[in-house]
Amino acid sequence: MGGKFDKEFIDKKGKRMDGRAPNELRPLKIEAGVLDEADGSSYLEWGNNKVYCGVFGPIECHPRHKQKPDRAIIQARYNMAPFSVDDRKRPGLDRRSTEIGLLISEALERVVMVEKYPKAAIRVDIQVVEAHAGTRCAALTAASVAVADAGIPMKDLVPSCATGKVDGKVVLDLNKEEDNFGEADLPLAVLPSTEEVVLMQMDGELTPEEFEEAFDMAIEGCKQVYEIQRDALKRKYGGK
Ligand code: ADP
Repeated sequence: MGGKFDKEFIDKKGKRMDGRAPNELRPLKIEAGVLDEADGSSYLEWGNNKVYCGVFGPIECHPRHKQKPDRAIIQARYNMAPFSVDDRKRPGLDRRSTEIGLLISEALERVVMVEKYPKAAIRVDIQVVEAHAGTRCAALTAASVAVADAGIPMKDLVPSCATGKVDGKVVLDLNKEEDNFGEADLPLAVLPSTEEVVLMQMDGELTPEEFEEAFDMAIEGCKQVYEIQRDALKRKYGGK
């Protein structure tokens, strides 16, 4: 976040470097049920991000000391492939991936009916194969579609998107340059039905007014993401 960048993020006509309006998402496509061997799965393309998610479970939780007597636990793992970024990421888990896995587990535990499956585990494996900013939001968005595809009951899908600030202006869904050189990044996941916030982080600085604007913009972004999630499931399973 921050650093040197000698171009303008927003031109005189109010368009961003990739031609988007400040409140416009990058193009988002989601498909449900793309992997044969997982109980549920999804594939997502969001701008240049590409993410697969596979769900296994509910299965008996191992190791046993992690079992909860009254509910299932969700074990989400987030991984960025070495070839997902231009300077080759070191393979394997690191602190950032571990943190994102935990965030996604906690967000999903708010909506999955975990009390139906005492002592069980639900494994959610996320592979980011191309990463161009906003991958934690993309991963969580893909994850709840894959959980639904596995037939695991949930109160709601979890749509997620980030807002941030570039050139002193609040914008939706930061691209790579905006994320790297912008002034703030605010990834959020908000349930459209209740406006319950199930993920929120912030990097950089926003004034209270900017925060409010960014937050409202993210709610609108999440509503759009939610429709695309629902559409992915409708295309697979039919229904309204
Ligand atoms: P998010 O992808 O959720 O925006 P970050 O803000 O941590 O998460 O990362 C922004 C972007 O920086 C990522 O989408 C990716 O393109 C790049 N990035 C993150 N970690 C690494 C890494 N270890 N090596 C190279 N690029 C990375």
